[in-house]
Amino acid sequence: MAYPHRAFISIGSNLGDKLDNCLRGIDALTAAGDIRIRRRSAMYRTEPVDFKDQDWFVNCVILVETGLDPLGLLERLQSVQRQAGRPVERLRFGPRVLDLDLLLYDGVILEDPRLTLPHPRLHRRRFVLKPLCDIDPDTVHPVLNQTAQALLAELEEEGQQVVEIE
Ligand code: AMP
Repeated sequence: MAYPHRAFISIGSNLGDKLDNCLRGIDALTAAGDIRIRRRSAMYRTEPVDFKDQDWFVNCVILVETGLDPLGLLERLQSVQRQAGRPVERLRFGPRVLDLDLLLYDGVILEDPRLTLPHPRLHRRRFVLKPLCDIDPDTVHPVLNQTAQALLAELEEEGQQVVEIE
């Protein structure tokens, strides 16, 4: 099996045993043998940002290597979300057992109805940039041409608390 591509994936949960949901989600990604985990950030307790009236999340970011193409990887993320019991129809930005977002895939820039790369909100979210900086602060956003570290430094902490838990 070849693993020529590098991708960063954001993992989150704010329902049930959130930490366990995230860890099981990461394990499930590797089950088919075509994705391997290279690095995992610390786990963080994070304030909800879009729909405020819900419980705090647990979030982390992983770096994976894979032979899947971007849409193949997205389909895998969606299948793992479904396995975790997440309904297809639900409130946008609302509570979720498991949320897996594809942040960056090599240096690919893509506007597809199913997939936007880099992830369109990656640069505005502390709960993504803080863990991303744990594992690769120098990784460059291919549209904004700025490092993860530089993007994080531009963000206000107000309303976007991110607290390391593990
Ligand atoms: P969400 O509810 O925030 O997890 O968004 C899920 C929807 O966003 C799905 O319909 C995906 O096809 C779409 N989507 C677009 N770009 C991405 C991305 N980079 N990562 C994950 N989902 C994406």
